[in-house]
Amino acid sequence: MMGPSHALSGAAVWLSGSWALQHFYDYEQSPLALAVGTAVCAGGALLPDLDLSGKVTRNRGGATVARTFGVFSLFIAEVVEKISLGVYYATKLSRDPKRNNGHRTLTHTIPFTVLVGWGTTSLCARYGKWAVIGILFFMIGLALRGLFDKWAERAGWLIVTLVSAGAAVFTAANLPGDRGYPMIGLAVGVGCFVHIIGDMITRAGVPILWPIPIKRRMWTPISLPDKIALRAGGRTEVVFVRSALTVVSVLAAIGLVAPSLLQKLDLTL
Ligand SMILES: [Zn+2]
Repeated sequence: MMGPSHALSGAAVWLSGSWALQHFYDYEQSPLALAVGTAVCAGGALLPDLDLSGKVTRNRGGATVARTFGVFSLFIAEVVEKISLGVYYATKLSRDPKRNNGHRTLTHTIPFTVLVGWGTTSLCARYGKWAVIGILFFMIGLALRGLFDKWAERAGWLIVTLVSAGAAVFTAANLPGDRGYPMIGLAVGVGCFVHIIGDMITRAGVPILWPIPIKRRMWTPISLPDKIALRAGGRTEVVFVRSALTVVSVLAAIGLVAPSLLQKLDLTL
């Protein structure tokens, strides 16, 4: 799956999940909390591909997400890729093939998803607003890069960085601390998980069972069979999947906001 589809699927899952929580369990969120959760989940759905390194010194290569904050995020991607490759070699069994880069290994596993979600939540709990600002800044940047890819490309990384910073500071100042923070960690984790599923249905093998050894392999790639899998970046993905995800997101957003809007109208009439 390509960046924008990953980001859209994160947004769609968060919005429809929030709608279901509100509809069936009366769990309501403020419009700001909803927007933040959606942005963070969309950003989280791009996070695993921060393991695709480029050439930092020449400012080239890397996944689209790796270019969000220019050469800085390209450098982070380089580090993540090397750590992932290290973990691959440290845990590989005799039938796991040799690799020379860590793409689609550690960051595409369930333990990583859980670790990132838990890590985010504990950072927010421990360091409060400052951690929230830092995390929101990073995740909103990724979300902008993914959801508005054409704009982000035209605007350049500096503008994306400034917009994310502004949005992060505004949000942290307005988000109530009592229930906003655990949602941030959950949104990052859910986003990562959605990414892994997205890769699996587009023929890209993902070691989703790691660290369960199967036939002397620890990093068994799992994907849908070629016949039913989507081709990454193909017409079906770009046209059909993206439209469907957009429709789901919009419907869920309307479903979430409409009841309280109607209520307000009722009160004023
Ligand atoms: Zn991926």
